[in-house]
Amino acid sequence: MAEAPDEREPGSVAGEQLQQQHVGGQGFSERLDPYVKLLLDAMKHSGCAVNKDRHFSCEDCNGNVSGGFDSSVSQIVLCQNNIRNQAHMNRVVTHELIHAFDHCRAHVNWFTNVRHLACSEVRAANLSGDCSFLNEIFRLHFGLKQHHQTCVRDRAIRSILAVRNINKEVAQKAVDEVFESCFNDHEPFGRIPHNKTYARYAHRDFQNRDRYYSNI
Ligand SMILES: [Zn+2]
Repeated sequence: MAEAPDEREPGSVAGEQLQQQHVGGQGFSERLDPYVKLLLDAMKHSGCAVNKDRHFSCEDCNGNVSGGFDSSVSQIVLCQNNIRNQAHMNRVVTHELIHAFDHCRAHVNWFTNVRHLACSEVRAANLSGDCSFLNEIFRLHFGLKQHHQTCVRDRAIRSILAVRNINKEVAQKAVDEVFESCFNDHEPFGRIPHNKTYARYAHRDFQNRDRYYSNI
């Protein structure tokens, strides 16, 4: 689909007008979908507990961008003028939390190594559900087994191009170089969560995994 990129540049927040608002307010955690719950647990488990007031910022963004991760302050930007509904919001939060998770668990050179960015974009597109809804439709209508991978690759390339001033061939090359290992890295989900039911299973498994570790 020729949709505008979902992303804005990590680290681009400084200098723009900040409209600090709270995400959700009361009942924040109760209303969260299973993807977000799992990622928040995983962040906490990795020593990067997310604070909804400090780590989220709601702002008006340019173009059709719906979110971003500002690695310099570990803050997720939610574009209040472009997020259409709660389902869209959940997807954006999930996508950006995957970047935050990668930022927490590894030393990611977001700006100096395009392959690092490519890897995180592949993971975010693969695991956030960005491609899963379309995937269902395509599977039903066309039986294209490869559609999910194609969608992940395309979205990752588009996300890179939205935040880096590089040409398409460079972005494609970076994505292709990291694709196999990063597409198969399902942490912290342990599987590709194609829908909320899978995400709930993944969350349950993650909690159990946590339990076993803490008993050692
Ligand atoms: Zn992204």
